[in-house]
Amino acid sequence: MCGIVGFLGDNPEKILIDRLKKLEYRGYDSAGVAVKSQNKVNIFKSKGEIKNLENIIKTTENACLGIGHTRWATHGKPDEINAHPHLSSDGKWIVVHNGIIENYLTLKDKLVNDGYNFYSETDTEIIAKLLEYYSKSGSTLDAIKNTVNKLNGSFALCILHKDDNHLFFVKNRSPLYVAKNADNVMVASDVVCFKGFSEEYYNIPDGYYGFADSNNVKFFDKLGEVQLSTSELDLCEFESETTFKHFMLKEIYETAPSIKNILEHYSLKNNRKQFDKIDFSKIKKFKFVGCGTAYHACLVGSDMLEEKTNVECNAYVASEFRYSNPKIGEDTLVVLVSQSGETADTLAALELARQKGAYTVAIVNVEYSTLAKCADCYLPIKAGVEVGVASTKAYCAQLAVLYIFSQIIYEKMGLGSFNLDDLENLSKNFEYGNVTEFKLLADALKYNDRIFMIGRGVDYYSALEASLKIKETSYINSDTYYAGELKHGFLALIENDTYVIVFATDKKVLSKTISNAEEARARGAKLILLTCFDFKPHELDNFHYVIKVKNANGPLQSILNIVPWQIIAYYTSIFKGINPDKPRNLAKSVTVE
Ligand code: GLU
Repeated sequence: MCGIVGFLGDNPEKILIDRLKKLEYRGYDSAGVAVKSQNKVNIFKSKGEIKNLENIIKTTENACLGIGHTRWATHGKPDEINAHPHLSSDGKWIVVHNGIIENYLTLKDKLVNDGYNFYSETDTEIIAKLLEYYSKSGSTLDAIKNTVNKLNGSFALCILHKDDNHLFFVKNRSPLYVAKNADNVMVASDVVCFKGFSEEYYNIPDGYYGFADSNNVKFFDKLGEVQLSTSELDLCEFESETTFKHFMLKEIYETAPSIKNILEHYSLKNNRKQFDKIDFSKIKKFKFVGCGTAYHACLVGSDMLEEKTNVECNAYVASEFRYSNPKIGEDTLVVLVSQSGETADTLAALELARQKGAYTVAIVNVEYSTLAKCADCYLPIKAGVEVGVASTKAYCAQLAVLYIFSQIIYEKMGLGSFNLDDLENLSKNFEYGNVTEFKLLADALKYNDRIFMIGRGVDYYSALEASLKIKETSYINSDTYYAGELKHGFLALIENDTYVIVFATDKKVLSKTISNAEEARARGAKLILLTCFDFKPHELDNFHYVIKVKNANGPLQSILNIVPWQIIAYYTSIFKGINPDKPRNLAKSVTVE
């Protein structure tokens, strides 16, 4: 979601475009750059892909500075006018912004009263106008400080001023980093941009601002200048070249290697030592918090841990949790799951958990992320960079690490010993299934406007995640129900040949789920069964199709259940002519509320 690059050095155009391309995977709808020479600023903006921008950029002679942006529209439609950079009325201030200014309407009213005109629908334009307003009574840096003091919300900013050769930046609740090498300085919203530029970078804390010139980078907090230390850039995180046609497919097939990485990492006792700082005699409940796919992983993880420890566990959607006044405190351990570690709602949930005195554990893929840095403990999922917007290998890796988390807690609570046998077995015998058959199913599903998925218990969670994959990549309205709920409303939606996908991998409710599927078939549904059990041939007569997965005999079954549906979702999107890596309207890393 949205990206910022700032560059101080010669030929900024080339670097800006190159680095904006590295941010493309995060999702965006328009892009723009501002390029500055001693006395001139040129602005180029375009809707759609970066290559559209690349096609219209003209070289600015003696350019020494530039800022670039990929926008994921929150306020105002994605078009050239709303694309960043945004300008002050006098054209002197140029701003790119990631995030949301929550009080922009109030600020706008005031500025309109003062005679300012606005040309865009964005919240960002207010920043450029405020900078102009405050620069009338102070220095450039004062104007930035005073502007920032007025803003509520999340904002990572890169700012240029026409009469000044500094690159300014501001960071609040949206990621922003700075790196320098012998000659140049780069500011970016994702450290992936620093590959090949510098081996180290500054992680700017919230509430900080600063500027760079060719000699220096300076950082300020509310009280004045501060020194920051650098972090090392971990380059192996960023291998994202692919010979597969799409990242989504490549990433599905990286599930087995990810699980191997996880086993290697967590079999070392040292990697679990961080949990020694938690006083487990106090812990009476666990809360799992995430968004989207990560929330689905939380549902499974919560059940796994409750089953293993008999301690109360619940899962929550982060955007609900943060506004729900949850009953948590020193007796609670809050587990926050996010692929990017930058998900805005999950970060807010972390903040709330910390304020209320709860222990926090982050489960993330990006190890340098804010969530990893701010939680008491963090467990990396070791899946490597995930580019496809629809999470695949990261979901399976989250489940594997949640399983390991349940083993850690089991041991720390003195209930038994840490044991990864089940995960090792799964890893040794991992199978992706019969792709030819999955393609046939994808071909059949692609003609449907809506399908249904049902299950009980943990199978329901698999159904939720499978539905999400189908929705994200194929734009089919896939709805999920608890199997036992069919007769309480859902059956009214069944017509002849409506597809109902039945997840049935839990022995104790198997016959109940199958009976519910029959109820749907009796009303005309076409049934597709996903199961890990052997049936007698006549018992399957009523199923249009059966997907047989391996039996994990326990909590890791959810990994085996989802992989076929990730592959089916991938091919359904391909057969519909959709690019599964970049579904419409969606972004990879959701850094706004
Ligand atoms: N809220 C801003 C806009 O809609 C920035 C969006 C972004 O983070 O890309 O233009």
